[in-house]
Amino acid sequence: MSFNVLVVNCGSSSIKYQVIDMDSKQEIASGLLDRVGIPGTVLTHKPEGKEKTVIEKDLPDHTAGMQLVLETLVHPEYGVVKDLGEIKAVGHRVVHGGEHFAESVLITDEVKKVIRDCFDIAPLHNPPNLMGIEACQSLMPNVPHVAVFDTAFHQTMPPENFMYALPYELYEKYKVRRYGFHGTSHYYVTQRAAALLGKPVEQTKIITLHLGNGASVAAVDGGKVIDTSMGFTPLEGLVMGTRSGDIDPAIVFFIMEKLNMGPAEINNYLNKKAGALGLSGISNDFRDIGDAAAAGDKRAQLTLKVYVNRVKSYIGGYIAKLNGCDAIVFTAGLGENGIPIRQMICDNMDFLGIKMDPEKNKVRGKEIDVATEDSKIRIFVIPTNEELVIATDTYNIAMKQK
Ligand code: ADP
Repeated sequence: MSFNVLVVNCGSSSIKYQVIDMDSKQEIASGLLDRVGIPGTVLTHKPEGKEKTVIEKDLPDHTAGMQLVLETLVHPEYGVVKDLGEIKAVGHRVVHGGEHFAESVLITDEVKKVIRDCFDIAPLHNPPNLMGIEACQSLMPNVPHVAVFDTAFHQTMPPENFMYALPYELYEKYKVRRYGFHGTSHYYVTQRAAALLGKPVEQTKIITLHLGNGASVAAVDGGKVIDTSMGFTPLEGLVMGTRSGDIDPAIVFFIMEKLNMGPAEINNYLNKKAGALGLSGISNDFRDIGDAAAAGDKRAQLTLKVYVNRVKSYIGGYIAKLNGCDAIVFTAGLGENGIPIRQMICDNMDFLGIKMDPEKNKVRGKEIDVATEDSKIRIFVIPTNEELVIATDTYNIAMKQK
């Protein structure tokens, strides 16, 4: 019988899931339960090779939500397994593991305590992640549950790259430091890039650009992250769909005073109303901004330039820190699909050894090298697959329990 892993990603009002058959490494179902605990709960379930099913049913909490997901997975018509016994393990995406986890772990009471201890530094993400874990454990108590952390891959950063120039006691008392996020994605594309380079990952220097709605870049030396753009929270670094990324911290106090905002409001403002959305005034979706820019909208054009410029700064800085670079990788929604943005990022970078072939770059969502033959640095487009990493870690840890 095949070894199926259920991958779960719980947000405050949503549950994303995928079932992966570890023999074939293929997804057999995926879905999204949206508006959990809010009127209008809707489950969109997609069994591989069949039509998607939409179920509307108000559900009070994550346990009821997971119950519906599990019922759907074994449903005679649109289910993908005969009974729950065919799901051998559950992998949970957890955003913040603090300094405690440099790799994925079997979930024990001790691990749950650490996830809870990180509520303070990840108030939006860790509470729903833990809620999802507890809901799944109550419904599937007899299978191993594994936590896969967004921060884990970045734990190899040296202190000179993770420390802020703030009074040292803030680190000692409150663990204020750079953590970095999207680690599972940076890890996956690093491994794929090394394979495309035809070298052991230990002999590679790679810059990975995860450009989705949230966006971050990582400098990976020999398979280990040495620096990344997201910081203490996902707000730092690149310009994102709705997040400002790097700004002068003094702007925060200035806006708080001018717009009469408290800490929670300014936090929400910089996370939800800024970035490409705030600057363009159009949308957080780069398809809309690209269309407006092409039609002559000046703010949309400026937004693209500001976005691209920030990415260039990080590439330059990371090449300096890595003292070399074999490949730059584009991944996530915009990285995989944003043809003009990729081109703009790589334009005028030939001094650094980056030369893109505009013809090869005309590609979406496919693993490919889009650099010119004579480019010193390879430029890869690699569709990310965080779920496969979570499922693989879960499988490996589950096998050790046997
Ligand atoms: P999330 O961070 O929510 O997982 P994704 O990785 O799915 O985000 O990326 C979503 C973003 O990718 C969209 O907001 C959009 O800006 C961008 N995107 C997706 N498809 C395209 C496309 N064809 N052209 C340009 N941008 C795209």
